[in-house]
Order: sequence, then C-alpha cells, then structure tokens
Amino acid sequence: MTIAIYPGSFDPITNGHLDIATRASKLFDKLIIGVYDTPAKNLMFNTQERVELVTQSTSHLPNVEVRTFIGLTIDFARKMEARAIVRGLRAMTDFENEFQMAIMNKKLAPDCEVVCLMSSLNFQFLSASLLKEVANLGGDIDDLVPKPVLEALRKRIILRSSSLKKF
Ligand code: ADP
Repeated sequence: MTIAIYPGSFDPITNGHLDIATRASKLFDKLIIGVYDTPAKNLMFNTQERVELVTQSTSHLPNVEVRTFIGLTIDFARKMEARAIVRGLRAMTDFENEFQMAIMNKKLAPDCEVVCLMSSLNFQFLSASLLKEVANLGGDIDDLVPKPVLEALRKRIILRSSSLKKF
C-alpha cells in the first residue's frame, strides 16, 4: 500500500488545497492530510478547528485521513509510513520555497519522495491568507472554499464584528 502525506497549515482549507488533495488521493492508496500544529503564522482557526474543517471538507474522499503533527515533516512522514510528501505549486509564488524544502527533506529522508502537483488554473492565485483578508472585508469567497469553511468564516467574522461594536 502506497501512503502519502499532504502537510500544511490549512488555516483554513481552501478549494485550492482540496483540489490538490482530491487529485493526490487518486494517485496513492492512502493520503494523510497533516495539519501542522504550530505554524509561525497568525492563525484564524486553532488546530482542532482546522482539523475539523479539513475532515468535513474531505469526508467524500474515502482514502483520505486527517492528522495533526508537530516538528519535522519527514518525521511525520516516517511515522505514517509514507513514501511521498505531496505539495501544491502555484504559479510564481511557490517554486523557490518548495524546491528548497524538497532538497532539504530529500537530504533528511532520501527514501521519501516529494511530489508536487501543479495548481489548477482556477486556484493559481488563491492563498489562505488572501482569502481571510477578503473574507474579513466582506468580499465574496463562496466559490473559493468548501461549504463548512464558508460557514465557519461567516460565523467567525460576525462574532468578531459584534465584539468590535462593543468598544
Ligand atoms: P504552508 O503553511 O506549508 O504553506 P499551506 O496550508 O499554506 O501550508 O499549504 C499547504 C500546501 O498546499 C502547500 O504545498 C501550498 O503550496 C499548497 N497550496 C496552497 N494553496 C494552494 C492553491 N491555491 N493551489 C494549489 N496548492 C496550494
């Protein structure tokens, strides 16, 4: 059985991430989405919320599992007995970073392959951080995120704006 992991922050999972997960799930017997527990980023959703949103958004994919992890991606890959690490590549922005990371991971774990899938045209310019910015400002993001994420974002933004009104 060939297992792959798809690691990331997923704050929150977008249709760009989902597209990569869906396509990768067809290439491997099992795809384990690894939600990174402590990314050096300003998070909108905590780890449990991010895991729940990824789980709900991928529930239709039978060979996809969701786990959290801390520390090195290759340690998580080893623990999951994964042969490959899946990453998504958007035009311009991702190549340098992903290339650097892939070389380092290859050095640390020569038996684990990094498999990069090109982002589909519709999601080339979609990032979770831009999405959150647009959502916070009331922009239309309906076709950019899975339904559970849309609901969670709406709730989060309503909650935030009602607490701001108190001041
Ligand atoms: P990280 O914090 O590691 O950058 P992200 O959650 O932002 O993690 O992304 C996880 C993976 O998904 C990365 O390989 C990233 O390049 C990829 N990704 C993010 N957004 C998209 C998108 N719109 N299309 C394709 N891949 C994407």
